This record gives sequence, C-alpha cells and structure tokens, in this order.
Amino acid sequence: MAVPIALLSVYDKANLVDFASGLHAAGVRLLGSGGTAKKIREAGIPIEDVSDITKAPEMLGGRVKTLHPTVHGGILARSIPSDEQDLKAQSISPISIVVCNLYPFTSTIARPGCTLTDAVEEIDIGGVTLLRAAAKNHERVSVLSDPSDYTEFLDAWNKGDGDVGQSIRSKLALKAFEMTAEYDDAISGYFRVQYASADLPPKKLAGPVQRMTLRYGANPHQKPAQAYVTEGELPFKALCGSPGYINLLDALNAYALVKELQEALNLPAAASFKHVSPAGAAVGVALDETEKKVYGVDDLKEPLTPLACAYARARGADRMSSFGDFIALSAPCDLATARVISREVSDGIIAPGYSTEALDVLSKKKGGKYCVLQIDPSYQPAEVETRQVYGVHMQQKRNDAKIDASLFQNIVTKNKALPAQARTDLIVATLALKYTQSNSVAYAYRGAIVGIGAGQQSRIHCTRLAGTKADLWWLRHHSRVLALPFKKGVKRAEKANAIDLFVGGEVLEGAEKAQWESLFEEVPQPLSAEERASYGKQLDGVACSSDAFFPFPDNVHRARRSGVKYLAAPSGSVMDVECIKAADEHDMVFAHTSIRLFHH
Ligand code: 5GP
Repeated sequence: MAVPIALLSVYDKANLVDFASGLHAAGVRLLGSGGTAKKIREAGIPIEDVSDITKAPEMLGGRVKTLHPTVHGGILARSIPSDEQDLKAQSISPISIVVCNLYPFTSTIARPGCTLTDAVEEIDIGGVTLLRAAAKNHERVSVLSDPSDYTEFLDAWNKGDGDVGQSIRSKLALKAFEMTAEYDDAISGYFRVQYASADLPPKKLAGPVQRMTLRYGANPHQKPAQAYVTEGELPFKALCGSPGYINLLDALNAYALVKELQEALNLPAAASFKHVSPAGAAVGVALDETEKKVYGVDDLKEPLTPLACAYARARGADRMSSFGDFIALSAPCDLATARVISREVSDGIIAPGYSTEALDVLSKKKGGKYCVLQIDPSYQPAEVETRQVYGVHMQQKRNDAKIDASLFQNIVTKNKALPAQARTDLIVATLALKYTQSNSVAYAYRGAIVGIGAGQQSRIHCTRLAGTKADLWWLRHHSRVLALPFKKGVKRAEKANAIDLFVGGEVLEGAEKAQWESLFEEVPQPLSAEERASYGKQLDGVACSSDAFFPFPDNVHRARRSGVKYLAAPSGSVMDVECIKAADEHDMVFAHTSIRLFHH
C-alpha cells in the first residue's frame, strides 16, 4: 500500500509539533507550506516542502503557496479508475490528510488602526481552498481544521490502522465547511461596511444599500448595531432621519401587517406600533362625525382620504399607547395622512411612497429628524427566517399563513350569522394578532383594532387587557367626554392623558389631582358607575380574535362584557365545548379557525 500523505498548512501552530510527530510515527509522509514545514523540521521531524512536489516556489509574498494542481489534484481525486489514471498521467500522489487553519481575519480587522490593505492581505485564499477541497472529498480525505481535534484523530488513525472511518471524516468535513462559511461571513461583513452602507458618502440614495448602521441596539449600551441583507439591497431606504433598532423591528412588522390587511380587504391600511406590537391597526373605513372627534381629527382642514381615516383609527384606538409610535401605511402617504401624523408625537413612518407635499410635511417633524422610510412594495422576504438567541441560531419557515374570509367559515355556535362588517373586523383582529407579541387577543370594530392585549402569559389576562382597552375606547365616545371643557392651549398629548384618566375612573390626589384639574375651564364631575354601565351596554357587534384557543370559557364571558358578538379562535382546547356553550348563552357567533398565530 502506498504511504499515506498529510499536507499541513496552519496559521495557528498550536499542538502542531506533537501532531506532526504522531503522524510521522504512524508512517505518514508529511508535506508542509513554508512556515509550517519550517517549524516541524526544526523540531527534528522529517517533512518535505509543498514546493518540492509542485516544483513551484511560494510567490507573491505568500499569496500563492499551495494553489497548484499537484496539491489540489492530490486532494480532490476520488478512488475511481479515471481519477487514479489522471493522477498517474500527471505523476501526482493522492493526499489523505489535510491539516489547515486560516489567517486570523476577524482579529486583524478588530485591531485599532487596521487599514483596508491590512484586511485584504489577511484574506486567506489557499487555506480556504485546501479546506474546501478536502471537505468536498471527505469520502476519502480527512480534513483537520481545529487543533483540538488532533489527538482524537491520531488515536482513531492508529486504531484503524490508517483508516479513521467515514463518520469521523464526515464530522471533520462539516467542521471545515462551517469554518470556511464563518470566515466568508466575516469577510463579506467587513466589506459590506466598507462598500455597501447607507452611511457612506455619497449618502443614502446612491447605489445599492445593503447595510445601515443603527445608533444602538435595543438599549444605548448595545453597540455596535446594524441592519443588513446578505443579498441584494435593503428593501427600504431612509428619506429622512435614521431608524433605530426597535424602530426597524416595529417598521418591518407593521409594514407586513398593513400590506396583508390591504391585500385581504382591498382597502388602504395603517398601523401604529409600539414595542413590536400594534397599539392600533385599521383599514380605511370613513369616520362619522363622532369618530372624528374621538380620534381628534374633526378640526383638520384637509378632507380625510381613506388612508388618513385608516391612520386616524389606528392612532386613535389607544392614544396613550400610540404616543411616540412607529407608523406603517399600505399605500403611498398623501397630504391628508401626513397632516394627521404631523400633529402627533411619533418616531417614524414606513410606507411604499410619499407625495411631494406629504414628504415635505413629514420631513419637518422633530426638527428634520423624523424617520421616514420608503419600502419597496414588491419586496418578498425570504421563506426561511433565522435569528440568534444567546448565541444559538434558530430557524423557521416564515409565517406566511393567509388570513382571509375563508378562515371564519367553521361557525360552531347556534347563531351562524356573520355579517360582512363582522367578517372584516375578524380579519383585522386576526391579522393584527399575526404581528403581535404573544399571547394576544384583539377586539376590532368598524375596521379597526379597538383593544389589544399583547405579550401576556395568560390568555384571560390578554382578554381582560384588550377588553379594558376597548371599554376605555368606547367611553371616549361618551358625550360628556367629547364635551370636556379643556382650556385653550392644552396640548394633544396632555388631552389624551387627561381623557384616559377620566374614562379610566382614576382617583387622583394631591398635586396630580391639581395638575389634572388645571387643564379644564371647569372641573368635570367624574362619570358615575351608572353612566359607565349604561353607556357600556350600548356597545355591541364587536369582533374578537385570539392567537390560540381559549382554554376556559371565562374569556368568552369577559369578551361579551365589552360588546363582543363575534369570536374567532382556533379549536383544540379540552374546554372547547364549554367555550361554545358560553358563546351560545350570549347568542354570540363563534368561528373556530384552523390556525394558531403565535408571534415572538
Ligand atoms: P505557513 O505558516 O505554513 O507559511 O502558512 C500557513 C498559512 O497559509 C495557513 O493559514 C494557510 O491557510 C495559508 N495558505 C496555504 N496555502 C495558501 C496559498 O496558496 N495562498 C495563501 N494566501 N495562503 C495560503
């Protein structure tokens, strides 16, 4: 049998001499690139230089060391007659073991003062080729890319009399493939920063932008932070301001939601996001005069377009939560919508386009720093999404479940009458849940979310939270709320807070009470328990959807107390029958959907 050959070419020379000595003792012929061979030879172990077999010297200052058909023919040849013949014709000996690790690109670029030239020189070419070639041919060749594997490999080699077995070769190959993949990621990441960033001159719109530096991550101490794609361009560009990390989480989730709302209902849609859940979401159903007052758009000179109605509804459902929101629109932002937005405290907006007048209005917000993102409406996200948690990569197929009317056909209650408006509301509520942190329950009315319970560990807490929000939203329609005698000059956000305290029935004391009272021409009397109860009863026909099944009928009863008539939730609870019974008791219409919609 021919003497097996090992080719050694390592940057990290840890454990090298011991390993080379072991291989030599096992009867393996050693070949090495310049520095590697020198170190082994100096330890008194016989080794030939790669240049002895290639008959080509290392050149270009080390850029070309092992790149040669004699080396790669020897690694890539299979144990098949035609390959063996090719080797023989070229007098090439097959190589059985490749030992290689790479120039330290990552630590080089992390060094202060590292120049582009330094980084370029640290890109390993021949080593990656060695690893890749040996890993490709792992049916025959063993590839060692990690010094910590040397001892175990040598044991297996000696035990197997020169054959470590396929499973070891396969595991070593996988490790080598992962090493080259990680190495390439580091290189492309470095050059993305150099050549394809939004923050490079000439700014923003010139050329493909693959990457954006973010001020920081979820918190100011989480630096650096960035957003990037590995192929093509980012699907959005900043027309004004620059987004933060949470802004982008909001923007991308919110846009996905409004895009699907528009597709499902053929109406323009808007969402108002905070902390990666919608505070409100709606489609462009026209506002009546009361609603205009409730949503604070009755004094606008600009006639409301359907898109402006959608945002007014989304923003107005829970004005407290929407303070400082990130907005998404499904259609290009028009002047009327920009005018509604211009008066609110908001962090930014994402939309597929902006009219010149709308952009003019928005780019004046926040002293010119308002974040205006334009997204490519034809963008299709990848089918598989990956994230990393605590250093562990997790992958899943994107949630591409389609939410439309067909989802609500399986009506399990005695009452099966689901009017068109209720179906619209169920679609709005269910689609909102698809992009709400779980657990979640949403109430919708007249094409808009009116209460949402997000991120609670228990479902009944979601149902109660959403119900309480819907109750407050409804009380804001009360004639006494609409007539609250605010002093001139009270700001919109202050009014929203004061109204929230009023409808919430908070009992205030001391300075807080005095401050609240100072906002009014005349201090309003609180709403009595009777006023609240009788007004609450006037709300009916609300739709409610849940992102997973109702585990107990208490959810159904609670929803009913906030005017819910139409329910949708997946089936699957041991208490399904009890939940249906509860719905029947209230003559509600309950659709069992077939789909769970957790979102994290
Ligand atoms: P040595 O210290 O043996 O001179 O060099 C070892 C390093 O060279 C290893 O990190 C290996 O990945 C790298 N290397 C091997 N062959 C080539 C080549 O042909 N070109 C370049 N640029 N690097 C190589």
